[in-house]
Amino acid sequence: MSAFNEERVLTVHHWTDRLFSFTTTRDPSLRFSNGHFTMIGLRVNDKPLLRAYSIVSANYEEHLEFLSIKVEDGPLTSRLQHIKVGDSIVVGRKPTGTLLIDYLLPGKRLYMFSSGTGLAPFLSVIRDPETYEKFEEVILVHGVREVAELAYHDYLTQTLPQHELLGEMVSKQLKYYPTVTREAYKNTGRITTLIESGKLFSDLDVPALNREQDRIMICGSPGMLRDLKTMLEERSFNEGNTSKPGDFVIERAFAEQ
Ligand SMILES: Cc1cc2nc3c(=O)[nH]c(=O)nc-3n(C[C@H](O)[C@H](O)[C@H](O)COP(=O)(O)OP(=O)(O)OC[C@H]3O[C@@H](n4cnc5c(N)ncnc54)[C@H](O)[C@@H]3O)c2cc1C
Repeated sequence: MSAFNEERVLTVHHWTDRLFSFTTTRDPSLRFSNGHFTMIGLRVNDKPLLRAYSIVSANYEEHLEFLSIKVEDGPLTSRLQHIKVGDSIVVGRKPTGTLLIDYLLPGKRLYMFSSGTGLAPFLSVIRDPETYEKFEEVILVHGVREVAELAYHDYLTQTLPQHELLGEMVSKQLKYYPTVTREAYKNTGRITTLIESGKLFSDLDVPALNREQDRIMICGSPGMLRDLKTMLEERSFNEGNTSKPGDFVIERAFAEQ
């Protein structure tokens, strides 16, 4: 059996000139956990050109959804950004990754710290009913440079709280905290700065980060991951992985060149 499925693009939505989302058909045999990523891409000269992508859609949904950067000279995204409804997408059959609630020890509060397209895996995690069964409070922090890059903002603030099955849990337990670094907005500044200053916690009306109550997932640039990991280790948090659950888990939103 091939390592890939061929899927068809169902919808495309451009958020900005650097960011877009799309949905595709889903082969019913594709299994994944919420928070996983898989290899996806296009056939170029009859060969698959693939990159790692977090799956935005929840694992019980009939379609697949992805959130993508547009890198001007990027081998994949210089092409992928032009996809249209009906086009073919190659989707790897072996999703994997560390951003799973199963890899966290029990806790009271779940934080998801994301920057840019690092939001993607958390859109899946926050639509998993188990997330709300395991954690009393679920906090999604999304840092971007410009307000227009707050992808899914309206979905998170308006649509999801009305969701037929998840709406009640979301309204009671999910807090969404968008923050912007290069424009005026209701919340501004980098996530690391907001943690160090304590502003994040006073704004959310929760205690400062503590290992007894808090569990953390991080997905962002390699630099953000480095800084947050150091901050958490200074606070005695232990990193978890696919074989040993911990207080926090990490995934890169992209690799540095
Ligand atoms: C585990 C994992 C999960 C990923 N999930 C996603 C995802 O959900 N959505 C997504 O758009 N990308 C994601 N990526 C990045 C993705 O694999 C590709 O790098 C991206 O699609 C660009 O591909 P490219 O061939 O056009 O350029 P590449 O040659 O792959 O990248 C060129 C350069 O562009 C920059 N870059 C690449 N991706 C990003 C990004 N997402 N945000 C900001 N700068 C970037 C980096 O500096 C990189 O070195 C993920 C990467 C990893 C390792």
